[in-house]
Amino acid sequence: MSTRTPIPVPEAISRVIEKSKAGGTERVQLKDTIGRYLAEDIVADHPIPHFNRSAFDGFAIRSDDTLEANFENPIELKLIESIAAGQVATKEVGSHEATRIMTGAQVPIGADAILALELSETLEKEGEVWVRLNRPIPKGTHISEKGEDVQEGAILAHKGRRISAGEMAMLAMFGYHEVQVYKQPIVGIFVTGTELLPVEAEIEPGKIRNSNSYMLESQIKALGGIPQFYGLLPDDFELCYREINEALKKVDYLITTGGASVGDFDYVQDIVAKLGADTLFNKIAMRPGSVTTVATLGDKWIFGLSGNPAACFVGFELFARPVLRTFSGSKAPHLPRSKARLSHAIKKPNPFTRFTRAKAELQGSQVVVSSIGVDKSGIASALVEANALLVVPGGTRELKEGEELEIIWLDRYEEGYKHV
Ligand code: AMP
Ligand code: MG
Repeated sequence: MSTRTPIPVPEAISRVIEKSKAGGTERVQLKDTIGRYLAEDIVADHPIPHFNRSAFDGFAIRSDDTLEANFENPIELKLIESIAAGQVATKEVGSHEATRIMTGAQVPIGADAILALELSETLEKEGEVWVRLNRPIPKGTHISEKGEDVQEGAILAHKGRRISAGEMAMLAMFGYHEVQVYKQPIVGIFVTGTELLPVEAEIEPGKIRNSNSYMLESQIKALGGIPQFYGLLPDDFELCYREINEALKKVDYLITTGGASVGDFDYVQDIVAKLGADTLFNKIAMRPGSVTTVATLGDKWIFGLSGNPAACFVGFELFARPVLRTFSGSKAPHLPRSKARLSHAIKKPNPFTRFTRAKAELQGSQVVVSSIGVDKSGIASALVEANALLVVPGGTRELKEGEELEIIWLDRYEEGYKHV
């Protein structure tokens, strides 16, 4: 067996980033692009609004006519026309004239302010309608000026951005009925281990249910990928090799969990070798997940993650995530990081950098972080509570309460820990 020398985490990440590439793109109907990633910039080919637009129901008037108006000396403007949203005035508003206008309608030529309906009074005189007001209305009142919201030529969203509500609104506003988006990466999943049972099975002595494939499917979907679960594989070298070799033809990326270590039945290394794949690394100076392997075979990638659920989770977020995000055009493919204060001491030093599942929260203007539960890589339940990974640097030094460490924020928007 080849020797496995651990490399530092930043080195492993940069090896992965160096080889990552953007994927192909495709044209998709606007309504089907929610959650997809833009492969073209959204450009405003006209200003918004593209005409001076009334922001109120009232009367389009000339502000100059109202300069002298007050309670003692109300002024009267002659109503010449009435226009609804979508209609265009046929008459210019002249001196001491007004046009009835609804919200969203184009302000007629000659008018430079909107008199709100509630500030006016209408009266009929000799078959004519007059509008009375008793205060000056400054120029521009209740008018959304042409280009006020968006100027022509502005880039509203750059390629690589995920399409959600705001992007959908902009795409529709500018007539992108079809959108160029990145293809969704197809990510195959195998879980290996003779001890694994399918979820529907009753628990048996010495066996556990496979949970990794479900966890990974959700991680992949969260990044806009299409997970393809190929099933549970026993620890059998030939069978695993055959299945993995076949699956690689059908996917962009393949993730395996389990068998990543140096136990008697840990075959990932041998399979990668037999495939002739190029190993980026097969051991990292980190906990959990030190036995993570990443290899490439042409354009395809193989992520050999540890079977340990926490290690599998961390390995995916640190190494597979940036590759998948780069595939979708991201220029910032990593999870966001920040500093946080430790809410407790960490006594047990570890030579490797540790990524512990943690809960970070804002206390005043300070982010305070606590690691969750017993710090063993096998503690999977901590993943439910965690909204961050606490990066505990390797070394022998004990860490004190209140020390500042780095954290990596997980995508847990639904929990209200919005962070980017
Ligand atoms: P391994 O990487 O094969 O050495 O597995 C490490 C630990 O993770 C062992 O305790 C396995 O039983 C467990 N494990 C492996 N695969 C899975 C899986 N798919 N779901 C949950 N636990 C697993
Ligand atoms: Mg195993």
